[in-house]
Order: sequence, then C-alpha cells, then structure tokens
Amino acid sequence: MATNQRAAWIGGRVVPYWIYENWQAGPHKAVIHEAGCSFCNDGLGRSNGTADTRYGRWRGPYASRTLAWDAARRMPAEDRRECSRCADR
Ligand SMILES: [Zn+2]
Repeated sequence: MATNQRAAWIGGRVVPYWIYENWQAGPHKAVIHEAGCSFCNDGLGRSNGTADTRYGRWRGPYASRTLAWDAARRMPAEDRRECSRCADR
C-alpha cells in the first residue's frame, strides 16, 4: 500500500513534504518526510492521527523539500534531518 501511495504522489505534479517534530527522549528533532512515506501517511503518522501530541507533532504540508527545510530551520530543533526511508532519493 505504501508503494502505491508513493507512486501516486510521484506521478502527480507536487510531492508534499511534512515535518515531524519530536521532543520525546532526547534532543528536539525535526524530521522531513514525503507525504507518501509510511511513517508520515500524509501527516497522520503511523497511528492515523491518534498519536499522543504531547511529545511530537506533524507540521505541514510544504509544497517542496526546499520549503520544508526552510521551515525546519526556523524550528527550535537541535537535530534536523530527512527521513532515511523516504526522502533519501
Ligand atoms: Zn519518511
């Protein structure tokens, strides 16, 4: 299913990006994902939006990877990176 979702995004004109901010257990992190990533699930995450938002939150969508990085740099995160699963291509 994740593969089909991803193919659908890539086939379209725009691949939205999301940022997952997480401040649980360690430094404040901001991780950039493509919307079709199985971790991201278009901003709903792996638990379809029912995750505890005390420790992490999805931000977005952003229309491009560049815009997502701009937003990530403005966040008070100590660690910013792209998801190793979806954004590294
Ligand atoms: Zn991802």
